[in-house]
Amino acid sequence: MKNPVEHFHALRLDELKTALEANNFEVWIADTAIQAKEIVINEIIPRSTPKTIAWGGSMTFIDSGIEAAIKTLDGPTVIDKNEPGISKEEKAERVKAAMTAELYFTGTNAVTEKGQLVNLDMIGNRVGALTFGPREVVVLMGQNKLVPDLDSAMDRIREYAAPVNAMRLDMKTPCTKTGRCMNCNSPARICNTWTITEKSFPPKRVKVILIRRDLGL
Ligand code: SF4
Repeated sequence: MKNPVEHFHALRLDELKTALEANNFEVWIADTAIQAKEIVINEIIPRSTPKTIAWGGSMTFIDSGIEAAIKTLDGPTVIDKNEPGISKEEKAERVKAAMTAELYFTGTNAVTEKGQLVNLDMIGNRVGALTFGPREVVVLMGQNKLVPDLDSAMDRIREYAAPVNAMRLDMKTPCTKTGRCMNCNSPARICNTWTITEKSFPPKRVKVILIRRDLGL
């Protein structure tokens, strides 16, 4: 066999697609981040015809070029909370407006083999939008986010994703010094609200693009 590692991950993502679909998520598999962008631009957005588009923190959303491509679209209003030069107040307003966008993009911290999305948020806007508000949500997921079960999902997030995210954001939290979660009481703590999304309700409201690459944290 030529590419056993790729073959291994491909099999796992095929299984995961079946599990997610059984949980009423709509699912695509993309070979690359660029292909994920094509699915978004050529399939999801034309079918959804959203009047407003917003997103939560997702490195994959930016690195795949989806953010840049969306900003060039004619038609939908883009709610960009990170637009350079906007005031703190305007940013807060846009974060709130994003909660009722017609189409919302986010990453996910982990996904179990049973097809459950597991996330931990600082402010709660990302998991809030995933749970309720936007008419449709697109979740972008690299193959590195797949874990066996809920315990391993929470371990992955606490022991890896959260400390590295705190480092990426230059947070003044103990984990940025120790590389370990210290379950801190820091005012800058980024770990405040857990969500487990067991199923999509209504069916297909939440769409997941599984990408056969290691992406994001
Ligand atoms: S709880 Fe605190 S120490 Fe633990 S990962 Fe989150 S921010 Fe870091």
